[in-house]
Amino acid sequence: MKILRHKSGNANMYFVSQAVGWILVDAGRKSKRKQLIRFMMEHEINPCDIKFIFVTHVHYDHVGNLKWLQQWTKAKIIVHEDAVENLEMGWMDELKTGTLWAKLLLSMGKLFPKTKKFAAVKPDILIVYDTDLSEYGFDAKIMHTPGHTKGSMSLIVNSRYAFVGDLCFNLKISKYVIPPLYQDYQILYVSWEKLNESGVTEFYPGHGAQFSISQFLDSFAVLKRLSTKV
Ligand SMILES: [Zn+2]
Ligand SMILES: [Zn+2]
Repeated sequence: MKILRHKSGNANMYFVSQAVGWILVDAGRKSKRKQLIRFMMEHEINPCDIKFIFVTHVHYDHVGNLKWLQQWTKAKIIVHEDAVENLEMGWMDELKTGTLWAKLLLSMGKLFPKTKKFAAVKPDILIVYDTDLSEYGFDAKIMHTPGHTKGSMSLIVNSRYAFVGDLCFNLKISKYVIPPLYQDYQILYVSWEKLNESGVTEFYPGHGAQFSISQFLDSFAVLKRLSTKV
C-alpha cells in the first residue's frame, strides 16, 4: 500500500494505492489543476488506474477538480447522500466558527472566497449507511462523520489510516487538530467519538500534515470541553 499526499494550495488530496488500483481522496482546488497533473506525471499515476474518488465533503477546495477528474479518469465518485444536493447544485453551505482568529479570517474572505460555486457533479455511488469497498478489492471502510458539514465522511484504510477531510485540521497556528469551521459542534464531537472508537492510529486531514493518535486524543479532550460550551 502507498499513500501520497498532494497539496492543492492548502487543501490536501491523497492518492492511496492498493493491489487493484488507486483511490483518490478529494479533488482539490480548480486553480491548482496544472500542479495536480504534474504531480500525477511525476508519480507515474495512470488516470485509468484511479478507480474511485472519495469525496470527504463538498467544499470548493475539495471538489474543485471533481467534474474534470470524473471525465478524465472515469473513476467512480463516492459521496454521502447528505452531500449530494450541494454537489449536484455546485454550491456549498455557510459555515460557523467558534474561534476568534477564524472569525476574523472568515470576515476578510480569507478562509472561503466570496463565491462558493464549483462545477456541479453527478456522483456514481451514494453512501447512506457505513460500508466498505471490499467488493471492489479494496481494504477500505467508509464512515459517515458529520459535523464540519452534514455530509462529511471518513475513509479508513487497512483499519489503521483515517482520511478525515475537514473533521480535523492540522494547522501550524494551533497545536490542536480541532477544525475552526463547522456546521454543528455537538455532531462534530460525536463523529470524533466514532473515529476514536474505530481503532485508527494515523490521521490524514484535509488541511495540514498527517498526525497520530496521541495528538488526536489531546485535542479530543479539549473538544469535549468546548462542545459543551458552544
Ligand atoms: Zn477544507
Ligand atoms: Zn471544508
